[in-house]
Amino acid sequence: MSTSANENPSQSTDTHNFQAEVTRLLDIVARSLYSDKEIFLRELVSNASDACDKLRYEALTDPSLSEGEGDLGITITSDTKSRTLTISDNGIGMSDEELIENLGTIARSGTAAFVENIDKAEGAENNLIGQFGVGFYSAFMVADTVTVSSRRAGSNKCNIWKSDGKGSFTVTPSDADHPRGTKVVLHILKNEKEFLEPERIKQIIKTYSDHIALPIKLADKDGTTEQINTASALWARPKSEVSKEQYNEFYRHVGQMFDEPWLTLHNRVEGKIEYSNLIFIPSSQPFDLFQPERKNNIKLYVRRIFITDDCEDLLPAWLRFIRGVIDSEDLPLNVSREMLQNNPVLTRIRTGLIKRVISELKKKSKKDAEPYALFWNNFGAVLKEGLYESADYRNDLLELVRFSSIKQDNLISLKDYIDNMAAGQEDIFYISGESMESVVSSPQLEAFRERGINVLLMIDPVDEFWLPMVSEYQGKKFRSATRGDIDLETIGKTPEKNDEPTPAVNNALSNLTALLKLTLAEEVKDVRESKRLTNSAVCLVAADDDMDMHIERLLRQHKQVDSAAKRILEINPMHPMIIHLAKALAKESDNKSQTIDDIAWLLLDQARIIEGESPPDPSAFAKRMADIITMGLTV
Ligand code: ADP
Repeated sequence: MSTSANENPSQSTDTHNFQAEVTRLLDIVARSLYSDKEIFLRELVSNASDACDKLRYEALTDPSLSEGEGDLGITITSDTKSRTLTISDNGIGMSDEELIENLGTIARSGTAAFVENIDKAEGAENNLIGQFGVGFYSAFMVADTVTVSSRRAGSNKCNIWKSDGKGSFTVTPSDADHPRGTKVVLHILKNEKEFLEPERIKQIIKTYSDHIALPIKLADKDGTTEQINTASALWARPKSEVSKEQYNEFYRHVGQMFDEPWLTLHNRVEGKIEYSNLIFIPSSQPFDLFQPERKNNIKLYVRRIFITDDCEDLLPAWLRFIRGVIDSEDLPLNVSREMLQNNPVLTRIRTGLIKRVISELKKKSKKDAEPYALFWNNFGAVLKEGLYESADYRNDLLELVRFSSIKQDNLISLKDYIDNMAAGQEDIFYISGESMESVVSSPQLEAFRERGINVLLMIDPVDEFWLPMVSEYQGKKFRSATRGDIDLETIGKTPEKNDEPTPAVNNALSNLTALLKLTLAEEVKDVRESKRLTNSAVCLVAADDDMDMHIERLLRQHKQVDSAAKRILEINPMHPMIIHLAKALAKESDNKSQTIDDIAWLLLDQARIIEGESPPDPSAFAKRMADIITMGLTV
């Protein structure tokens, strides 16, 4: 940001450049053909309402801040002659520094996400404006000049911010007697004059801002005012008096979301402790869902007064996708940050909320699988964090989890899985990996497929954390399809057998296995004939008491463990290559040992490649491969 002061020190006007992202944003906003330009008023009113909330909260500890003005509120004035629309509030206001910081850079995360997404969305900016909202800067969709005069509560200095939205803005101190708070004046574009009409303004406020708990007044040029919203906290109204549209608008305002809620939970709890909650589950993933802070998104009110949106204890991180408001009747109004920690009232509210959400999710999951799948695809990975973080809710959560599986296209529950287990099956089989593509094509699943045994596919990184802690469900153990000596002989359909190998072939196979074990002794724990392969020649599995191979890979990537445990190499006794190899070995020959050696290593490297790992010595791999091919061609 560059600054240049003019000569008059008492009335100096400083010119600042917008942060580059803002300039870009403003460019798009000014060119936008976005069809719902009216949302600019929602954004400005929302800012004004937040400013009043902030003042009310700060005044709890410093009552002098709110002295001198009447009740908190927002006034909208339109003047068709000068083509100006003014939105004023008597909230917290902004100092000169805050004007520069807040209205010169990108403050809100939603706006930042918008700018981030512009590059990806060539030509679709208009949709993005609706999806993310662009806050204060949306004023430039309807105005060619915007002037913001502001006086911060507790200060007597007023400053005026002004811009035409083209790269720079000015900030000038003003001597004028300015009431506390902020006044935003829009010089409305000629072809957007509809936004100066009182009826149009009323309609916009009714649509988007009726839920704002402060009075919003419309003033005419004589100064007579009319209140144009209901001005009572939406969550304090009876459910029957709130329409779906009002809930949706409230959700967008409080959650900074731009979709429709997937679930709305509005209720009042009475008894030992009393509170109201109006909370929502979004129908799309908020962009900050997987940020490391894992913060919740609930606003805490005490008897209709905003306290904080940063109260860690209100909801566990695994419910951080929930948006909304909790209003407590029991906490003191001057509750401090320290008092909020380990507060028994909050603990009970938290427990109440978790139970309510879980019970609603159970209802939804039973009622209709398809909408529940939408929820699950958005937030399942987050909910699963609860399986290892909150043992108290583990059983409830296990009812809610859904999985993809090799046998079914739709998501299934653990109950579905158990109800449909194959004859003779005792365990819940799963396979975990980095992606759907890699797990579905794993050779370790071949025999499961052939025998009609279902296997759950686990591809969320979080699966690796809860699986070791949740070892069973309803008495059935979770078992990895890539670990241990899995014997499916007695489970499911018996596959059509090829001709039984002759005793001679069996003998040759045992010899081959023994030889491979000898050759690869340094590299593998064991070599054995596989009961899980049907098509592939080889695969790797982990020993029963070792870590799952996928977890181990993940931990190695994150440098949590440094060396890999030795694996077990399984060879497919039905595979033609393995049978040929065994037979060839049985024939006496003196100069074969180098070839067998090469083949052993090639088999191991092949198994590694199938696992998505690279051969540890690629050039040795290539050389062996070339030698064997050459041999094949010259025979
Ligand atoms: P957001 O409101 O989502 O943070 P905006 O771009 O709309 O993003 O506003 C940027 C910042 O400017 C706000 O976070 C707030 O700090 C400040 N601001 C905007 N309008 C007002 C106002 N009327 N009173 C006080 N501060 C305001």
